[in-house]
Parts: sequence; structure tokens; C-alpha cells
Amino acid sequence: MNTDQAMKSANTGFDVIVVGGGTNGLSAGCYLGMEGKKVLLLEALEKVGGMASSGYLIPEAPLHLVHPCALDMMSMRVHAQVPIELQLDRHGFRSVELTPGYVYLHPDGSSLVFWRDRERTAAEIRRYSANDAQAFLAFMGVIDMFLDIALPMMRVDPARTNLGAKLKLVATALKHRKLKPELMALMTGSAHQAARERFEHPVTVSAMCALTGLAGDISADGGGIYYALLGFLHRFGVGRVVGGMQQLSNAMRARLEELGGEVITSATVTEIVSRQGQVEGVRLADGRQFSARAVIAGCHPKVALEMVSEGEIPRQLLTRIAMAPANAKGSGPLKIDLALDGQIAVPRFEAARGDGLDLRKACLLIGTEEAVLENFSACARGEIPRLPYITTAAPSAVDPSQAPEGQDVLYIYPPVMPVNPREGWDAVRERVADQVVEQLSAYVDGIQGHVLGRWIEAAPDFTARLNTVNGCVVHIDTTSLRSSTMRPAYGLGGDTLPVAGLYLGSAGIHPGGGVNGMAGRLAAKRVNAYLRKPAK
Ligand SMILES: Cc1cc2nc3c(=O)[nH]c(=O)nc-3n(C[C@H](O)[C@H](O)[C@H](O)COP(=O)(O)OP(=O)(O)OC[C@H]3O[C@@H](n4cnc5c(N)ncnc54)[C@H](O)[C@@H]3O)c2cc1C
Repeated sequence: MNTDQAMKSANTGFDVIVVGGGTNGLSAGCYLGMEGKKVLLLEALEKVGGMASSGYLIPEAPLHLVHPCALDMMSMRVHAQVPIELQLDRHGFRSVELTPGYVYLHPDGSSLVFWRDRERTAAEIRRYSANDAQAFLAFMGVIDMFLDIALPMMRVDPARTNLGAKLKLVATALKHRKLKPELMALMTGSAHQAARERFEHPVTVSAMCALTGLAGDISADGGGIYYALLGFLHRFGVGRVVGGMQQLSNAMRARLEELGGEVITSATVTEIVSRQGQVEGVRLADGRQFSARAVIAGCHPKVALEMVSEGEIPRQLLTRIAMAPANAKGSGPLKIDLALDGQIAVPRFEAARGDGLDLRKACLLIGTEEAVLENFSACARGEIPRLPYITTAAPSAVDPSQAPEGQDVLYIYPPVMPVNPREGWDAVRERVADQVVEQLSAYVDGIQGHVLGRWIEAAPDFTARLNTVNGCVVHIDTTSLRSSTMRPAYGLGGDTLPVAGLYLGSAGIHPGGGVNGMAGRLAAKRVNAYLRKPAK
């Protein structure tokens, strides 16, 4: 921050302070700015974006753009009203759709493309099993029903009556009542069970496991809801931000500043100041204080509530949020980004398909049914999986501006790694990265012998850098019991907290994780309503 910024920030006449400049903090700030509110956004890191960021992080390869966290735009395509309402296109935000988006690679060289068109996906599956193709199309009917019920509810404040959304829900339920038993079985059972119930071929079953494993433990009861991903892929497709994820966050910052908001980076909040149940402002690590009638916590809900002045949040609620699940089953993300001196290729799989499809541009899923299951159970024991389940993509294959000409940057994301391996990540980080890269090289050519440098982060690294909990990518685990007003926990997901004027506004509240800005949008609406009430 320069001196001008510091001087300007001495101003205390803010309506709202937003703690954290991730997608949700930024979106909350923008929506409030659009309502004419004076917003101050404080971000601990040196730039905005949080988990939605990209940058040149590998010193040996200063022109290879790294995405240390989120890469794909699926969630924001589901909630496409956010970039439209915020007019982000005027601030340089552009995205492209991936065709195809996600492709499952089986060890024997076969592959299964999840096209946006369900008939094309069914045709892929038919290559392995006609029964599976038929079962897939029937399954998509159940998923459609699920999305038609869930999506309207994701777009409203669950603390309100929402008569319109509920009527839609009832109408959908009545229209598709024959599917109700299947929907109930899906929502209460595991993602693995749902795959096993319907599909017979190992490629189909494995592809479903590898896709849903991105959302959580495929053997956990209630994990059938992870098939929302399958529905999203087919209804909305997958996109990428042109120029890298940071462009989205920068566009949101630019919009906020255009609306008169102030953004201060490298500004760590240490206390959300509250007195007698009323929020007053925040205190920073460097001693500065800012006051406002309302504070939105765009950071993890546990981090937020533990920062509130002592004694202001009942001990019971602090315990409840401390125990809310964040990678509770012991598995969390590992990220490895490689700067390569050449380009990757996937010739074995392309040749086996024989249809000329360019797999370099897709997001590749690697991990059989057995591997995905083993990964989750190994992590629960604090062990490194034997054959890590991996998702990978070369962002530079879609957007060549992200690496020097003729070279690639490779995004490698094994989503199921132990949060706390027995040996500790410091002892195993490099070795596990080698293991993952070696395994990936059995599927993707052009990696071994071509690495200029790499960036590695495991769960504790995400926790430390982003001030989150257990490196959880969605702040609070995605389960049906942690949805709606029960997210992040019963008593904390409604439109009021024990401290008046304090609002949660991150992936840890409704409607949950992903780069979408919806939780921030919800928090902004709540704060707007609060500010309309006369000050006490
Ligand atoms: C490895 C990985 C891969 C992912 N892949 C995808 C993907 O491909 N597509 C997708 O849609 N989603 C993906 N996600 C999930 C998605 O990125 C997140 O769910 C979403 O970005 C969370 O946004 P948020 O604004 O709620 O929180 P965050 O992004 O966590 O932002 C919180 C911000 O608060 C700041 N902060 C914390 N404490 C303080 C403090 N005391 N003072 C000031 N600032 C503070 C942090 O620095 C951070 O910037 C991924 C996440 C990870 C980690």
C-alpha cells in the first residue's frame, strides 16, 4: 500500500467492511457498491482473488502462468448472473468454453468424454456398453429433477420464505413424481453406490467415480448429490477465464473500485471489533482500525467467528464452528504446477479413439474406481495413496498466452491427498510430487525430462497461505446436512448472528463452494436489508 492509499484509508466513514478479497468478498463488495454503499475491502494477501488467482510463481519459469487453486469455470457458469449483474465484461473478464470439458482416461488406453450434449456422452458410453448408455440417459433424467429442485433454492436466501422457489420445487416434484424413489436413493446413498447400481462397464463406473470424487468422498452416505457435477457439465459446460483466473478477480476489484469501493491488500484483519452484541469495525495486524455499521467476513467462517472480540460470540457457537467439517474425512487437495520446456501430448488415448479429438485441450481425469476408493481410505488413515487419483490440464493448450510459445504449463490436482500424512508434509512433499508426476507420465507424454520448475502446495500450505481450515477448497464440506441455513452449522447459516451487523459471506455459507460469488451476493443482500434499519 502506498502513502496515498494509507492516507485515504484513514477515513472511517464506511458503511460496510469486507474481510477477505476472494471471489465472495469481492462480489459482496460489488453488490453493495451497486446499492450506493461505501465499501472497504481488506485482503491479507498482496493481491485479491483468494483461491481464484493465478500468477507467475515459478522463479525458474517467469513466463509460465500458474493457477495454484481454481482453474475451471463450471460453478460460475451455473451462476452466470453474477458476472452479468456485475458487468465484469467491461473490466476485461472474458471466458471460453472447453470442448470437450472433462475426459476420463482409463489405464488400458480407452477414454470417456463428458460432452455437454448428453446424447454425445451416451454415444461415448455406448462404445463400452449399450446398457450403460441407456442407464446414463435415464440417470440424467433423475439428475435433471435434482437440479430443477436444487438450483432455484441455490439462488435465493434460504433464511427467507421463498414462496416462488418453493412452488417451483413442488411443481417439479409433482411433474417427475415417478422419479422420486430414484432421487431419494441418490440423495441418501453414496456416489459410488449410484454408479454401481446403474453401470456395469469398468470404464463407465470409473469415469463416474473420478468425476464425483472431485466433490467429496464417493463412499460417504449422501454423496449421491455430487452427481450435480454431471448435471452441471451437461447443462452449463465448463469454461476457462481468458488470461487466467486472476483476470476474473482483477475485474471484480476494478468493478468495486469503479463503484467507489476501496481495496487494501496486504491488510490482515486480526479482530472483528464488537461491543455489547454490535459490530463496530475491524482491527488490523498493524494496529490500524476501521469502523463501519456492518462487517462481512469473506474468509472461512471459523476464522471469522474466532476473530470477533472476546466474549461476543457464545462459547457454544465457537465450539460448533470449530467442529464444522472441513476435509473432515482427512483428505484434501495437493497442487503441483509444472513449467515445461515443451508441450504435453496424449497420443496413446487419442490413437485408441481414432476420431481426431485433441485431448491436450481437455481437463483429464485419471483414477479407476478402485484407485478413487483407495485414495479416500488411505487418506482417512493418514497415508499417501498408492496410485494417486489425478485431474490435470494444460491451461496453455487452451490459452497459449499462459506459457512461452511451444511450451506448456501443466496444472496437476490430486484432490484426495491426506490433510495430515503421518510423516508430515514437510517430510514427503517433494517425494509425493515426484510420485504423482511419475504416475501421470504413464498417461501423458512430454513431462519427464522437460520440467523447468514446479510449484507445490498441500493442505497445510493452503491453510497457511489463505488463512483457511484444513486446506478445504469449499471452506465447509459439501454435504446435505451442511446446506441452506445449516451451512456452515445450525444456528450460523441464517440472516442474523449473535453480533448485529456481522455477516458471513464465503464459500462456507449457502450455496457453497466454487468460484461463483453467490455467497457474497447473498451476504450483500442481507447487509443491505440490515442497513435499511435505523442505527441503534
Ligand atoms: C486446489 C483448488 C482447486 C480448485 N478448483 C476449482 C475449480 O477449478 N473451479 C471452481 O469453481 N472452484 C475451484 N476451487 C474452489 C474455489 O476456488 C473456492 O471454493 C472459492 O474460490 C472460494 O472463494 P471465497 O471467496 O469464498 O474464499 P477464498 O477464496 O478462500 O477467499 C478468502 C480470502 O480471505 C482472505 N483472508 C483470510 N483471512 C483474512 C484476514 N484475517 N484478513 C484479511 N483477509 C483474510 C484470504 O487471503 C482469501 O483471499 C478450487 C479450490 C482449490 C483450493
